[in-house]
Amino acid sequence: MRLIFNPESYAMMNCPFCKSDRLRNSRFQPVDIFQLLLLRLPVRCRDCIERSYVSIPEWRRIRRESLIRREKRNHRESDQRPAESHSK
Ligand SMILES: [Zn+2]
Repeated sequence: MRLIFNPESYAMMNCPFCKSDRLRNSRFQPVDIFQLLLLRLPVRCRDCIERSYVSIPEWRRIRRESLIRREKRNHRESDQRPAESHSK
């Protein structure tokens, strides 16, 4: 079974409401199951607090960036890159 994507929204990684790119992963809600069927995962905009959805690769990238950001905050001088040890 193949689902049809809108290529524009599929590639989008900015907030559709305020165009900000400061997105973070959002907690799952029951309503997200429909977007999940479209292979899209929830994110929340840091600027306007609106919820939207991104493709799974985008979502993982956002998650990784937020993890790296947190790492940098904890260890200011860290030469080692955070390894992708979280295999899930
Ligand atoms: Zn926004």
